[in-house]
Amino acid sequence: MPTELLTILAIAAAAIVGVWAGSSMVTRRAQEADARSANAANQLAARLHELDTDRTRMAALLSGMVEGVLVVDGDGRLCLVNDAARQMLNLETDLLGRHYVEAVRQPGVVQQLGAALKGEHRPPIEVPLDAASGTTGGPRIFRAQATPASATGGGAVLVLHDISDLRRVDRVRRDFVANVSHELRTPLTAVRGYVEALMEEPLDPLQRKKFLEVIDRHTGRMERLVRDLLRLARLDAHQEIAELHPIEVGALFRSVWTDLSERIEKQKLHIEVLVDPPAAVIDADPTKMHDALRNLVENAVNYSDEGGRIELGARVEDGRVLLTVGDSGPGLPDADLGRVFERFYRVDKSRARDPGGTGLGLSIARHLVVLHGGRIHAENRKEGGAIFTISLPHRKG
Ligand code: ADP
Repeated sequence: MPTELLTILAIAAAAIVGVWAGSSMVTRRAQEADARSANAANQLAARLHELDTDRTRMAALLSGMVEGVLVVDGDGRLCLVNDAARQMLNLETDLLGRHYVEAVRQPGVVQQLGAALKGEHRPPIEVPLDAASGTTGGPRIFRAQATPASATGGGAVLVLHDISDLRRVDRVRRDFVANVSHELRTPLTAVRGYVEALMEEPLDPLQRKKFLEVIDRHTGRMERLVRDLLRLARLDAHQEIAELHPIEVGALFRSVWTDLSERIEKQKLHIEVLVDPPAAVIDADPTKMHDALRNLVENAVNYSDEGGRIELGARVEDGRVLLTVGDSGPGLPDADLGRVFERFYRVDKSRARDPGGTGLGLSIARHLVVLHGGRIHAENRKEGGAIFTISLPHRKG
């Protein structure tokens, strides 16, 4: 090979090596820069992902909350409204960015938000919201509290709690105490009056006996009331459990009317029993089912006229056992059929035909039936009189 050619090749090789060396340096720098920006992009993506996860979590948290939450910014524009708040305040769906005064229609809530936006901490207010009543039935009551959102530089956060159930329980408790006091006051006043008369006035033996009998009747009534109240308290506290055994319905009916035989005979009532063979044996707690049926039969006796008829029946229908107690009494006004199972509910408020009941019997009977996984309801019979039906799950096998 000529020397010139060798020289040229050497120069070319050196140039190629030099270019390669130079280009590899540039590539390394670019790679480093690429790595840095890739890193930054990854960090940004991770942060965005975190923010996204935070936002999703926050949205899930807010939409899962039973409390209503509504947030306004420093200009009073809505920036967050969860589903609960939307429902409670009956708000339109697309209202983010609108001023709260335009969106919220309840004056009390508007005032709360206005005060919070001025930095005031006001005590919560109670707002009856009829708008939200449709789904749950009955008017709803909410406690609304708005607080200034100083941490985010102005704005306010409104939180709404549904307190309707609390108020309802409160009302039931107050009514219950008032009813018990009223039920006790009548016999107590009578007892007191007759005791005073016995102490102050000289009475002949016959009068004395009459007064003592009245006292006896009223104390008996108070005793029954206290006994029924204690039983309801036990049932409410789930302190009674039904221990199910196979029992013969015929024998059960018999034991119930034997308990009441004295009055049945006195009123010349006719008892008719019809037990279909498939319903002859039921699974029930003997004492508790006896008590439930006794309450029904006792009412049938109480509200029947002399010579009336009481029909006790058992049959299987749609896979359930139906125990029925029918009578030939006055029946019940249709409007009261569902309410007679409420505590102290009486059809005849004047108690013109008051047989000395406590007004708690049907309520106890319903509790006892429910303990068996059953239901109870009242109807009027076409031929006149009332009929109460206990429906129980049919025994297996
Ligand atoms: P009470 O101790 O007053 O009988 P209950 O809870 O057993 O209380 O019954 C509630 C009300 O239902 C009674 O006051 C009565 O007005 C009505 N009632 C219950 N059973 C009958 C019936 N067989 N016929 C007519 N009315 C009835």
